[in-house]
Amino acid sequence: MTQRANSAAAGRPVRILAVSKTRPAALIRSLVALGQQAFGENYVQEALGKQAELGDTAIEWHMIGPLQSNKCKDVAEHFDWLQTVDRARLIEPLARFRPAHLPPLNVLVQVNIDDEPSKAGCQPGQIAGLADSIAAHPRLRLRGLMAIPAPAADVGIRRAAFVRMRTCFERLRDSHRDVDTLSIGMSDDFELAITEGATMVRVGSLLFGPRA
Ligand SMILES: *Cc1c(COP(=O)(O)O)cnc(C)c1O
Repeated sequence: MTQRANSAAAGRPVRILAVSKTRPAALIRSLVALGQQAFGENYVQEALGKQAELGDTAIEWHMIGPLQSNKCKDVAEHFDWLQTVDRARLIEPLARFRPAHLPPLNVLVQVNIDDEPSKAGCQPGQIAGLADSIAAHPRLRLRGLMAIPAPAADVGIRRAAFVRMRTCFERLRDSHRDVDTLSIGMSDDFELAITEGATMVRVGSLLFGPRA
């Protein structure tokens, strides 16, 4: 998988986030032993349990599931990255609860790039406003954008969604100096995402096998 990612990246650095939702802590530990550092979880409660089991193992934890407002404190205290900020009212609590002894929480704005009614994420037109609010908080660090494009059989349609994300990302990068992360692409389409500009791909089933 790493080789395929590197070859699609053609020399550009691309990070692989191992998506470990539903996988036991022991499997995470075995990937850490192989050199994997960053893990993504969708459910706060499940993640906290595994973090407790894994103790002081050096892991960079990413929250990639939809965030309920009542979980802002847990995320601010126990994660290194949050990839799913899509509304303004999450921002102030996240900043307030981020403990002073930790570095700022790395934040991505989630974009609903295919405008799907059932999906989380802001509209492209809302990115700039959310980004400015995040960047105004010293306890938060705006790093970029994340999206989960609609599944489409047609490669051209999928590519077009990635290209729209890249355009949003490049515009954001022009106005925010810490922005360096475009999190798009999963097991089925990570090479296409990298070709179209992903700097981080989120891969679950390809690393761990199909989810039950
Ligand atoms: C589950 C999940 C993934 C990984 O999906 P795979 O198809 O197993 O690679 C990536 N991103 C998000 C937000 C997810 O929920």
